[in-house]
Amino acid sequence: MNASAFPLAARDAGTTVVEIGGVEIGGPALVLIAGPCSVESEDQLRAAALSARAAGATILRGGAFKPRTSPYAFQGLGEEGLALLRAVGDETGLPVVTEALEPAQVPLVAEYADAIQIGSRNMHVTPLLRAAGASGSPVLLKRGMSATLEELLLAAETILLAGSENVVLCERGIRTFDSYTRNCLDVGGIAALKRLTRLPVVADPSHATGRRELVTDAALAAIAAGADGLIVEAHPEPEAARSDADQQLTPQELADLAGRVSRVALAVGRELPQVVS
Ligand code: PEP
Ligand code: MN
Repeated sequence: MNASAFPLAARDAGTTVVEIGGVEIGGPALVLIAGPCSVESEDQLRAAALSARAAGATILRGGAFKPRTSPYAFQGLGEEGLALLRAVGDETGLPVVTEALEPAQVPLVAEYADAIQIGSRNMHVTPLLRAAGASGSPVLLKRGMSATLEELLLAAETILLAGSENVVLCERGIRTFDSYTRNCLDVGGIAALKRLTRLPVVADPSHATGRRELVTDAALAAIAAGADGLIVEAHPEPEAARSDADQQLTPQELADLAGRVSRVALAVGRELPQVVS
């Protein structure tokens, strides 16, 4: 891979700390982003946010526009979900990140959220990358499920070229021949990205594994490989979730994850911020 193909994202350009609503990603401290797969109701989101904050998360996630594989599956609450995210984020003091599915949604998502997520299914959609880059908001760019690292970096370059200074990459697992796990967490890819780019890299062990019982172990591996943080799905009642019920953590499991991640973080010279109660 020739790093001159992505001069703005390349490692040579230094290291970048991205700020999302006052929370730094890519600095010495690790960042835990947590929350439900989908925003389902005010009560669900508030409960998820409070347990995320109690576990040490400093950014709230939640989908309002959901990129579901089936057109019959829950598609998200749309703008109502964005408004709930803003309200609950403000109430709990957590900045919020949520996905925009298409260029036309970018201004609306930017109005409500502190960062715009571009999902795995959309990593190759150049008009969306450009719109997110031009919005002025930080962008969390997820790796396409069949994208090479170079394609991910070129997608990031597209966002940077459109005017954004603040892009966070997310390794969320790639497709392999094995279907036991939903995807395959590319741990080596995380280590490689840290060498190739100045941009912060976070990992999503939830979509990478698709199985609740594997999420924490995958998270530990990602941090050991050099990830700057994690984005984890957690729900007050995972079995009742309207999307990704099998992979969302309970409040207790999220707290346990944070505790175990803290210990691995120290081993690799990083730190997870202390729990805010
Ligand atoms: C998500 O994080 O809400 C999501 C849909 O993940 P991905 O785009 O990685 O599948
Ligand atoms: Mn999900």
